[in-house]
Amino acid sequence: MSVQVAVVGAGPAGVVAALACARKGMQVTLYEAEDAIDHAPRAATTHPSTLEMLAEIGIVDEFISLGLVARYFELWDRDTIVARFDHDVLKDETPYPYVVQTEQHKLSELGLRRLADLPNVRVRLGARVLDLAQDERGVGVLLEAGEGRESADFDYVIACDGGRSTLRKCLDIEFEGYTWPERFLVLTTLVDMGKALGCSERTYISDPEEWINLFKVTGDDLRGRWRAVFPTRESETDDDAFSEGSVLRRLRRLIPGHPLEQVVHRNLYRVHQRVAKSFRSGRVFLAGDAAHINNPVGGLGLNCGIHDAMDLAETLDAVSTGRAGAEILDRYERRRRPLNIEYVQQQTVANKRRLEERDPKVRRANFDEMRRIADEPKLHKQYLMRTSLIESVRKARGIG
Ligand SMILES: Cc1cc2nc3c(=O)[nH]c(=O)nc-3n(C[C@H](O)[C@H](O)[C@H](O)COP(=O)(O)OP(=O)(O)OC[C@H]3O[C@@H](n4cnc5c(N)ncnc54)[C@H](O)[C@@H]3O)c2cc1C
Repeated sequence: MSVQVAVVGAGPAGVVAALACARKGMQVTLYEAEDAIDHAPRAATTHPSTLEMLAEIGIVDEFISLGLVARYFELWDRDTIVARFDHDVLKDETPYPYVVQTEQHKLSELGLRRLADLPNVRVRLGARVLDLAQDERGVGVLLEAGEGRESADFDYVIACDGGRSTLRKCLDIEFEGYTWPERFLVLTTLVDMGKALGCSERTYISDPEEWINLFKVTGDDLRGRWRAVFPTRESETDDDAFSEGSVLRRLRRLIPGHPLEQVVHRNLYRVHQRVAKSFRSGRVFLAGDAAHINNPVGGLGLNCGIHDAMDLAETLDAVSTGRAGAEILDRYERRRRPLNIEYVQQQTVANKRRLEERDPKVRRANFDEMRRIADEPKLHKQYLMRTSLIESVRKARGIG
């Protein structure tokens, strides 16, 4: 009988884990606590290395059709461009020398549509996993669905239940790291920032007063809209941040006279840099935000979660088909934990610091360095190999 896997959470990491395991012939049950996928604006940037993985599970073309292709990204010093990066320099390294900006709920919903076609998959929406217990032969999960509680047994459980992961807590795994004092305010506007400012679809604006991270998405109507991410002041309440005054003050720094009616979403997020002390406990594995969370500057968190999911599917397949012994189950943590720290935690902290730096001398040095990287073809490519996570994927293959 084929191996039985439970995936907990139908965010992007969970649906990719479920699809990847199912395509390898495992019997998969996907549990999602909510009745529908959350549409809150979160991740959108999908890097070349991740697009290659979406191709492997047969969904990349539809995924790209739901978003937009962004070849460039830019760093600005307030209203002046400092450096522009071109993913086309990666054309000999990947079939996808660009990022794709597709909102994460579209990936989850696309994944659910594909899972519905597979005979070896059960999707349970409105089913919240509450607890688990395991021994050397399997894992039992306890869940709440509708009015009642039920339990089910599996060979392995993949916990993709997000940053507040119930399963990580059940396993008593520490979530090491810290929470930033400020929160991030995301404003979505129908005003075409690219046209108004002459900037790329991903633009990072450094400003000692208040930095801005700008990016374009297509929206559900595919007509295009822009998200602008701002740090809040530490003392700023939710009401202050969402107020008409705050929204207009922030957007009018970009576009004088920006009309309030064009603002279609306002969201606030608490931001952390945390990595689980362990990514595995027996037959249970943490993946995606359940294993690691980071600030979104650079768009790396979800990408790394998808890389976790693909690595786990490959590892469980190798063990369950007898191509490798159970000792390689630990390889997942050996690969994914240090790579998250090196490529995601360090990069996103550096990205945020560059945007918020206040010391004029350090700011100038940072900008000179980014200009030098952008101007020198070898450095430009090296930098994008790193930010696109291609380098981390290749490094992972070398960790046995
Ligand atoms: C403003 C913002 C912008 C971002 N931009 C980017 C970006 O451009 N690129 C990028 O790579 N990352 C970005 N990120 C990070 C990205 O959103 C997350 O890394 C991503 O959502 C993680 O996916 P996940 O599947 O691990 O978890 P989630 O998306 O959090 O999904 C977890 C799922 O598990 C379900 N669940 C929870 N508990 C249970 C339970 N007990 N039982 C069953 N189901 C459960 C939840 O309902 C949810 O559906 C951004 C984040 C923010 C806040």
